[in-house]
Amino acid sequence: MSFGSITAPTSAGSWVATGQGLCKRARILQPRAVAVHASSAQQATAIQQRQSAGSPEQHQPSKPAPLQSSPELWHELLGADEDEPFNARARSASDAAVLRRKGHLKEQDFLIEFLLRMHETHTCQEVFQKLDKWIVEHRQDGSRSRLKRMVPTLGCFFTPLRLVEAFQEYDRFFALSRRTYVPPNFAELRHILNIAQVHASAQSLKLCAFDADGTLYADGHHIEHDNQMVSLIVSLMRSGVYVAIVTAAGYPGEADRFEQRIEGLVNAFRRLRLPQVITDRFFVMGGECNYLLRIDASTKQLAFVPDQAWKSPLMMSWSEEAISGLLDSAQLALKQAAGKLCLPVEVIRKPRAVGVVPKQATVYEVLEEVALTVQHQLVDSPLPFCAFNGGQDVFVDIGNKSIGLEALMKHLDVSPPQVLHVGDRFTISGNDKATRDCCCIVWVANPEETGFFIKLLLNDIRAHRAQPYIE
Ligand SMILES: [Mg+2]
Repeated sequence: MSFGSITAPTSAGSWVATGQGLCKRARILQPRAVAVHASSAQQATAIQQRQSAGSPEQHQPSKPAPLQSSPELWHELLGADEDEPFNARARSASDAAVLRRKGHLKEQDFLIEFLLRMHETHTCQEVFQKLDKWIVEHRQDGSRSRLKRMVPTLGCFFTPLRLVEAFQEYDRFFALSRRTYVPPNFAELRHILNIAQVHASAQSLKLCAFDADGTLYADGHHIEHDNQMVSLIVSLMRSGVYVAIVTAAGYPGEADRFEQRIEGLVNAFRRLRLPQVITDRFFVMGGECNYLLRIDASTKQLAFVPDQAWKSPLMMSWSEEAISGLLDSAQLALKQAAGKLCLPVEVIRKPRAVGVVPKQATVYEVLEEVALTVQHQLVDSPLPFCAFNGGQDVFVDIGNKSIGLEALMKHLDVSPPQVLHVGDRFTISGNDKATRDCCCIVWVANPEETGFFIKLLLNDIRAHRAQPYIE
């Protein structure tokens, strides 16, 4: 179905029909009404008189004004509660929530898109059989592999992946292989890749990093006391895994504000009287890479780790002058990009970040355009930066999550195959994307998926402990 052949003519046709119908009714009804009360001569005179007097009955019906999608209507749609009126049915691309945040661009990955295209000529099983082989080859020589030629932007696979087994695991529940007409969608392939990565990482996992908004809790929320994420994170720490929450949020000098976002978790540490050996496994990385906090042994509260103790020499070399210069350029680029799109915004400036927040409801694609425009304009910046679409705002942060995670990995003496980062924003404008350069990743769409994959991970860790791996 194309827009030109079906939608437009149907829509235009209905407008023409409505207009003709109105005209016909006016012409037919008018003489009938006159005939009841007057002769044809009187009728002609009366009509003439009414025409000259400008009687409303004799006005030719004017052409209907074109229907306008008024700003009020759009704001009403964009502001609609996510549960209404779309509750209790499968969501579609016209849903308010989709329009507001989860536009098509949120599902964007060159490897998954390549796999989707393969399904035009292969079964799902065949796709993953080939991918299994190609990944083995790619891990041996990442620059000359067949997979690299077919997906040129592909990075590293830090662990082997058993994708056929992951597909079969997913297939047992969702009967993917029994579908005749509907190939797997983007999210289904993402789930299969995630399952394979969790199984591969569980055996040697030392550090599990989590994005915060959209991954551990819904955007703009925080970890509450009864949040199931609390027990899952504590279980990971008890199993000997370091846990780091790596977030764009940055509150320089204000450890209490960081703690507010994860209050339920830190309270649980105190309530459960977790020994220091376990709370020492917990970190918060803020401002992408600019602040590191951990639980203070005496106060049991979050406290900043001094920069000298963990930052790389490169990070320590960033001068305040260079940082403010980059933020000035970023602020100008953000305002210009928003202005070009007629989007009124409020500017938020912080010591290591600058962002714009729309003053009115908008769509994901507009914020995406702003983020990508700024990325391109700052491409020659002397400092690393992260210009990203936060879903409800666009920010430019100094550094990125990869730089922060690499510094933490060095601090904890762990290597890329031992690290897993769970996040929800891996598209070209997402602030989790950079972590692909330094560790394994799991891509989730919401906190519920995060909970699912942590449970899978914990099951695997327990299974490996019960049955130690023998080489
Ligand atoms: Mg996020």
